Amino acid sequence: METDPHESAPTREGVLDAATMRAQHRRLLLNLLWNEREASRADLARRSGLSRSTVSAIVGDLLETGVVREARTGTSTGGRRPIVLELVADAALLVGVELGASHVTVVLTDLYGTVLGHREVPCAVRDDPECALNLVEDCIGGLLQARPGARERIVGIGVAAPSPIDPRAPGKFVPSILPKWAGYDVVERLRKRFGRPVLVDNDANLGALAELWWAGRAENLVYLKVATGIGAGLIMDGRILRGARGVAGEIGHTTIDPNGPLCMCGLRGCLTTLAGTHRLFESVRELRKEHPSSPLQTEPLTVDRLVDAALEGDELARHVITEAGRTLGIGVANLLNLVNPERLVIGGGITRAGELLLEPLRHTVRTRALAESIAHAEIERSPLGELGIAIGAATLVLERALAEPAMFDVVKEGART
Ligand SMILES: [Zn+2]
Repeated sequence: METDPHESAPTREGVLDAATMRAQHRRLLLNLLWNEREASRADLARRSGLSRSTVSAIVGDLLETGVVREARTGTSTGGRRPIVLELVADAALLVGVELGASHVTVVLTDLYGTVLGHREVPCAVRDDPECALNLVEDCIGGLLQARPGARERIVGIGVAAPSPIDPRAPGKFVPSILPKWAGYDVVERLRKRFGRPVLVDNDANLGALAELWWAGRAENLVYLKVATGIGAGLIMDGRILRGARGVAGEIGHTTIDPNGPLCMCGLRGCLTTLAGTHRLFESVRELRKEHPSSPLQTEPLTVDRLVDAALEGDELARHVITEAGRTLGIGVANLLNLVNPERLVIGGGITRAGELLLEPLRHTVRTRALAESIAHAEIERSPLGELGIAIGAATLVLERALAEPAMFDVVKEGART
């Protein structure tokens, strides 16, 4: 007898629906537990609106991954004493990688952004992708080896790249910014090596994501990364604003001086050419003669040396940092007018100069942004410090895993073997 396709369809859809429903319930309960850190099955049923039996079934799944455990017996409010469930912060781990212009940074974090270990090594990332990827693999390998059982508990690897990232091809970088990386796919490479999902986003976007999750949760915030390149991560209404192809926030390549110097992107007078690290070093070299006693008479120049000299009172260093602050202020004023954030956080090694950079920056902002956009905008250094972007890369994986709890299944499988 021939099968009637109409007869089998409802059953198949019914099965799919049940699976989808179970996944949705799992997401709901996991997120409740992540937010509250602990709750009983009855609490979860009350807050989610799900039935006690559904909650018990889903909690069973969660217990199996080890991400949730029965912690203790709570106090009774009348009946049997309830068992308190808790989210186990280090039952699953996240890897965050920052590819900087001149360094590779890797962090290992738990499910609440706590850094359990980190490595940072100098590397010419722009010019030598092979070396950069080898170092990333070595750093991840080293961190996992240093912590017994860590390898099996990794949920995924997040990567922060100094390039706009097109969500349709996240492993590949933009050729106009990183020409030597043509032909490399970071996602494929790291997934093959570690057998875990690899998520990539722009570095400033991930600096912003880290601020959103771990430092105040302002729903409208801007993270301005100031280093060799300058870029902004924009969080609007609690979400990263990426644009059509991931280029949103490239404030470093907006024109400040139409007749200015040529930028690495091929345009002229970009903010990066006027306030990026290379420009600061050029300024030091141009002005050295006027400051014979400056400790910056010798090469090689680094951001750390520049900031140290400024903090110790060196006039040349202070002059260069003041000028950088004034120029950055133009970019910041434009950002405030454009997206009206509650917080604008500045990250990058140069921010260690503190008020020496921020005072002239705020001065420019006051003279160039609308009073209304300044009124409620805090301009501050990133409280997360130098690991902020790498922590943001790990947070990208956490955000995905809380939305798709099936990602935690690798932890379950790992724990069994
Ligand atoms: Zn440019």
